[in-house]
Amino acid sequence: MLDKKYDYSLIEPKWQKYWKEKNIYHFEPKAKTPKYTIDCPPPTISGPSLHTGHLFSYSQIDVIARHKRMSGYNVFLPMGFDNNGLPSGRYVQKKYNLHMDTMERGEFVQKCLDEMKLIQPVYERLFTSLGFSCDLEHTYSTIDKNSQKISQQSFIELYNKGEITRRQSATLWCPECKTAIALSEIDTAERPSTMNYIYFGIKGSKDKLEIATTRPEMLGACVCVFVNPEDKKHNKLIGKTAVSPIYNREVPILGNPDALMDKGTGVVMCCTFGDEADMEWQKTYKLPVLEAISTNGRMTELTGSLAGMKIKDARVAIIEQLKQAKLLYKQEEITHLVATHERCGQDIEILTKPQWFIDILSHKDEIYKKGLECNWYPNTMQKRFLNWVDGLKWDWCISRQNFYGVPFPVWYCKKCGKIHIADLSQLPVDPAQSKPLKPCECGCTEFEPERDVMDTWATSSLTPQLCMNTITGLGLNDNHIPMSLRPNAHDNIRVWDFYTIAKSLLHFGKLPWNDVMISGYAVDDHGDKISKSKGNEKQSPQELVNTNSADVARYWASNVSVGQDTVMSMEQFAIGKKLVQKIWNASKFVISFLDNAPTTQPKHMEVMDKWILNELRITQQNFEKNMDKYEMGLALKEVEKLFWNFCDNYIEIVKNRLYKPEIYGEPAKQSAQYSASTVLQSLLKMFAIYMPHITEEIYMDAFAPAKNEQSIHSSGYLKIDGKIDEKLSALGSDIIEIVSAIRGYKSQNNVSLKTEVEKLIITGYEDTIKQVEQDLKAVGSVREIVYKVGKEKKIEMTLAPAKTE
Ligand SMILES: [Zn+2]
Ligand SMILES: [Zn+2]
Repeated sequence: MLDKKYDYSLIEPKWQKYWKEKNIYHFEPKAKTPKYTIDCPPPTISGPSLHTGHLFSYSQIDVIARHKRMSGYNVFLPMGFDNNGLPSGRYVQKKYNLHMDTMERGEFVQKCLDEMKLIQPVYERLFTSLGFSCDLEHTYSTIDKNSQKISQQSFIELYNKGEITRRQSATLWCPECKTAIALSEIDTAERPSTMNYIYFGIKGSKDKLEIATTRPEMLGACVCVFVNPEDKKHNKLIGKTAVSPIYNREVPILGNPDALMDKGTGVVMCCTFGDEADMEWQKTYKLPVLEAISTNGRMTELTGSLAGMKIKDARVAIIEQLKQAKLLYKQEEITHLVATHERCGQDIEILTKPQWFIDILSHKDEIYKKGLECNWYPNTMQKRFLNWVDGLKWDWCISRQNFYGVPFPVWYCKKCGKIHIADLSQLPVDPAQSKPLKPCECGCTEFEPERDVMDTWATSSLTPQLCMNTITGLGLNDNHIPMSLRPNAHDNIRVWDFYTIAKSLLHFGKLPWNDVMISGYAVDDHGDKISKSKGNEKQSPQELVNTNSADVARYWASNVSVGQDTVMSMEQFAIGKKLVQKIWNASKFVISFLDNAPTTQPKHMEVMDKWILNELRITQQNFEKNMDKYEMGLALKEVEKLFWNFCDNYIEIVKNRLYKPEIYGEPAKQSAQYSASTVLQSLLKMFAIYMPHITEEIYMDAFAPAKNEQSIHSSGYLKIDGKIDEKLSALGSDIIEIVSAIRGYKSQNNVSLKTEVEKLIITGYEDTIKQVEQDLKAVGSVREIVYKVGKEKKIEMTLAPAKTE
C-alpha cells in the first residue's frame, strides 16, 4: 500500500540506497546485449562544490542514459573528475592563499592532490542525491596513475608518428598565470586604450612616415613597416628603409594587402609580437623574431630604458619619451577588443619559448571531415565546430609552465641536448624522479627532466579511453570507439569536442563517438549564465534538491529543447511539484481499482478502453521519435499530455465501470482495468527517466511484485501491440468534446456534476459514438440520448428537474 502522503525527503534517499545496493545500473562490458556508451563529462574540480549548470546538464545526460536502459541497452555511464592542471591548481592557490612559485614542486602537487580528495566526495553526493545513474564505484580522475599512463602513452605514440614536435615558437602567454595557453582558453574583452600617432624616419630622406599604434612599448621589437600596395600615397616607399623612433633601428618597408588604407594612417608597424596579426606576418614574410616581453610580463633588455618595467608602465614611459622628442603628434582615446585569458582575465601576450606542439594545421581537412561525419544534436551545432576548425591558425600547444599536471615522459641529455622519450614499460613516469633506461648515444648518463606539464586537455581529450579503462583495464586503444554519445555544453565544442576528435583521428583515424548532444546553459531572467562568480545563483544545486526534491529539479532541467538555454524559473519548479503530486494521487486512485486486474488483454474490450490504448500508442511513437533526436523536453510534453488526458478524461469516463460491476458487468470492468493498468504502467515507465524516485515508489509497490521485477528502471518500456487507429482517435476526441459540453452546461447552470440530464441531443456526429453510449450516460448522468443527422455539430441538453427532498 502506498502511503497517504508522498514524502520525498524519505523516499528519494531510500531508493538511492537501494539502487546502489542492488547494482541496478550495472554495466556489463562483456554482455552480448547492444551497448550504449556515454563519454560523460568529468566535472572540472575548480571549486568547493558543483553549480546549477551541473545540475542542469547532468540531469539531461541521466535522462538519456535511463531512456536507453529502458529501451533494452546495456548502458555505460561512467563518472570521472577532471582535476589536473591550471583550474585545479589555481583553486588550491586561491583557497590557501599561497603561490606555487614560492613552494617546492612536490609539496604543491601533494597539496593539490589532497584537496582533490576532499572535494570529490562533495561532488559525488550531489550526483547521488540527484538520482544520477552513473557508476560511482569505478570513477577515474585525470591525474590518477592510469590516466597519467594513458596520457603519456598517447604522447609517445604521437611523438613517434611525428605528430608532436618541440620547437621554439610564438606562443599565447598569460603573464599572470605565467604559462602558455591554448587558443581555446582565450576570451576577448573590450578595453579603453589610446591610439598614438608617431613619426618614423625614412632612410636617405627628410620625409617622415606617420604610424598609428596602441602598443608603442613594442617599438623596440619592430621588425618592419607595411603599406598597402594599392595605397597611392605610400606605395612608392615599398623597398625603402624606415627608421624606428627612439631606437633608430632600420627596418624594411614592405607591401602587404592586409595593411588597411582607411585604418590609422594606412601604415602599420609589425612587432614580434604585438598581436596575432604580427604572428601571421612574421611567418608569411619570414621576419626576424625580437622579444620585447619576458615570460613574467616585464620588458626585456632589448627595450633599452624600458627594461624590467611592467608592460603598462613601459607604455606610459615610452609615450613620455616620444612626446619629449616631439615624435608623437596626436593621441586618440579608443576602445578596442583585446585577447584575455579566460581563467584569470589578464590580457594575453605572444612570446617565443620552446614548447611542445601537436600538429593540427596539417590535419585541418581531416578534422573538418570528421566533424561532418559526426551527428550533432541540435544539428546547428555542427556549423560551430566546422567554423572553429576552418579558422584554426595554430597548432595545439600542449606544454604548460605549471607544477600540477601530467608530466611529459621526456628528458634532455645534459651533454648533447638530445630528446629522450620514456620507455612504455616506465609509464606512468615522472621524469624528475627517474631516468631513461639507456644512456645517451653520446655516452652521457646525465639527463635534465622536462619540467613543463601537459595541458589538461591533452589528457581529457582521451576520456573515451580513460573511462573505459575503469571497467576493462584497457589503456590507449580503439576497442570501444566510437562510443555512442558525447554530451556537453556548447562552450565545449571548440575545446573538449575538438581536442577529442583531433586525438581520436591522430591515434585511430576514426571518430571517438557517433553522436554529440549539446546542452544549453541554465540562465537567469536576464539571459546570463548562472554561476557563482556572477552572484546570480540564488540557491546551490544541493539546496535546490533538498528543498524541492530531486525529481522536481530534474523535471525543470529536462524540460528543454536540445541545445537551448533555459531560464532558472521557480514557476517550472512549481509545475513540477504539482505534477509529482498529481502522479501520486492519480496512481493511488487508479491502483485502488486494480485488484485482480487482467494481465493480458481480455477478449471483450470497451471502445473507450481501446481508445486510451490507441492514445498510448500515439504517445509512445512520438516519445520515441523525439528521444531519438535527444529532444527530451518534447518527449516529456507528449507523456504529460497523455497523463492529463488519462486523469481528466479517461478515468472520469470509465470510473463507473470500475466502481460498479454490479450495474455495468464484470467484462466491462475488466476491460477498463486492463487499459487503466497498462496505461498507468506505461506512463510511469516513461516518467521514470525524468523522475526516477516517485515512479519507483509507485511501481515497486503496485506492479513489480507480481512480475518479480527489481526496479522500474530495469523493467523496460511497455510494448503494446497493434497499429494506430486514426478513426478511433477521432471518436475519442468526439466523446471528450461531448463530455466537456455536459460538464460545461452543468457548471453554467450552477448545478452539481451529478445532476441528471433528462435528454441529450447530439447532432452531426459520426454514428460510431453510439458504441460509447453506456459510458456517456454514466459519466454525464444522462437518461436519454437522441442522435440527429445534421451538417453542423451541435450538443444540446435538458436537465432533469431537481429532486425535492
Ligand atoms: Zn591567466
Ligand atoms: Zn647526449
